[in-house]
Amino acid sequence: MLLFTPGPTPVPEVVRQAMATPTIHHRTPEFEAIFASTRTKLLKLYGMDDVVMLAASGTGAMEAAVDNLTATKILTINAGKFGERFGKIAKALGKGHVELTYEWNTPATVEDVLRTLDANPDIDAFAIQISESAGGLRHPVEAIAKAIKAKNPSIMVIADGITALGVEPIDATHIDALISGSQKALMLPPGLAYIGLSNAAIEKIGKGKGYYFNLASEIKNQRQNTTAYTAPTTLIIGLNAMLDQVEAMGWDAFYDATRRRGVATQAAMKALGLAIYPKVSARSMTTVYGDETKAIRSLLKKEFEVDIAGGQDALNGKIFRINHMGLIGVNEAAWVVNAIELAMDKLGLRPFDGAASTAFSRTYYDLKA
Ligand SMILES: *Cc1c(COP(=O)(O)O)cnc(C)c1O
Repeated sequence: MLLFTPGPTPVPEVVRQAMATPTIHHRTPEFEAIFASTRTKLLKLYGMDDVVMLAASGTGAMEAAVDNLTATKILTINAGKFGERFGKIAKALGKGHVELTYEWNTPATVEDVLRTLDANPDIDAFAIQISESAGGLRHPVEAIAKAIKAKNPSIMVIADGITALGVEPIDATHIDALISGSQKALMLPPGLAYIGLSNAAIEKIGKGKGYYFNLASEIKNQRQNTTAYTAPTTLIIGLNAMLDQVEAMGWDAFYDATRRRGVATQAAMKALGLAIYPKVSARSMTTVYGDETKAIRSLLKKEFEVDIAGGQDALNGKIFRINHMGLIGVNEAAWVVNAIELAMDKLGLRPFDGAASTAFSRTYYDLKA
């Protein structure tokens, strides 16, 4: 089965090999050296003042960021499942909370955010997804973050980059906490999360909040190349191997291949007469909207050995999502759009004429830098 869901994504062979080595103790010079090397590469990827790794799924990092960076009230953007989750976390932690909601295909705007800040002068933190995976939507996070900082630099900007960091270059100039996780753009098994931090965020964290997710104790320990609690050694060894692999190819080349696969996949979907769901697409995935998507997706799995994702909540049975994150062979991506066309033929939706494959190949190679 070809795994083409926007998380989990396939784990590259070299990473699996690296993780197959015997378990080592986490409080040893041997592991500290691996941690140091991984941390250096992760800091380079983030381009921020500091970074911490957490043994948690991405949601753990979201909770840690909200708890440690919100003192009075947080504004969250809900344009999908994951934005909704920031609000639920704020509520569970007993934080003051305001939410802006959008249709799942509609990006947040600078104007809406500034208006909400005016109406709520006690807001001291803001949280948004860069790529909202529920609908494959890209929010204009850089512009919103810049406008927030111009208005009030003490407001902490938390950006969930779980399906964005490692997909495209992220300008973190106005971001205080940039969250990522292991099993999506960063091609590892689930269980590891990361938060890139600005110096302003570190200052506000101070002594930290909570116990396991107290970021002050993680910052202190990780600067010494160790962790407050038992480190997920195997996953960090895998992360180190993954970062080596992508550095060898070059992050820019990696981002470019991801972009080209995405644009080519969208061209193929349009050539089949299918509708792209988000008003602004994230580079992490292609989301197609329509009543026919449900039948196409199940036939793909049953007859063509291709696993793509559906939708949740109101989008259940209404969309499918094709992943572009990770080290994906262009031959595999081309097969996926071809299989969609074959499935549509089989369902009597449209006779097969090779339109998807043609549009994919032409677009992919026309975009060659
Ligand atoms: C998957 C995802 C999460 C949640 O991560 P988990 O690892 O499932 O906890 C948060 N935000 C976005 C944008 C995601 O795609």
